[in-house]
Amino acid sequence: MEIHIIQGDITQIECDAIVNAANNSLLGGGGVDGAIHRQAGKELLEECRTLHGCATGDAKVTKGYRLSARYVIHTVGPVYRDGQHDEAKLLKSCYKKCLEKAEAYQCHHIAFPSISTGAYRYPTSQAAQIAMETIEQFEAHYVQRVDIVCFDDYTYRTYCQLLKKNNKSA
Ligand code: ADP
Repeated sequence: MEIHIIQGDITQIECDAIVNAANNSLLGGGGVDGAIHRQAGKELLEECRTLHGCATGDAKVTKGYRLSARYVIHTVGPVYRDGQHDEAKLLKSCYKKCLEKAEAYQCHHIAFPSISTGAYRYPTSQAAQIAMETIEQFEAHYVQRVDIVCFDDYTYRTYCQLLKKNNKSA
């Protein structure tokens, strides 16, 4: 499986499924969630209403509507408090559940945002480590390419450094 770190807007990525860092209601929010809903159109919110929310660490799938991605995999990352409230376990579970959904929907190419590192305040370097580790350890059959789409410079640089480090030790 190839992992690519990309700087940009996840709503513009052409792939089989993009991941949304949503909240428990799945009824829209700010950050990447707001951007995905704006781009997908109101049908996305209508489908989300039928899902009755999503637990932290879990993932649910909808169609992509006006996005170029066929599916949106909605996951809910943990709000970071002090690192003593299962944050790492829950964040790992987000990545794993999303990859499992991607497999179930036979996706070859998927894109993740940096889950929990915006409004949910997970320290970026720790979150990036969990993201990369979980993706690298996943045994995929359909998924051949994973893009991690970083919106801002700092997030992009943090993920790139980790990718370099991991390649060196391999
Ligand atoms: P969370 O509530 O899980 O922290 P946020 O949307 O607040 O989710 O932030 C998660 C990450 O997504 C942040 O790094 C933020 O800069 C980034 N982000 C915001 N908009 C986009 C977008 N359009 N594409 C990709 N990443 C985005």
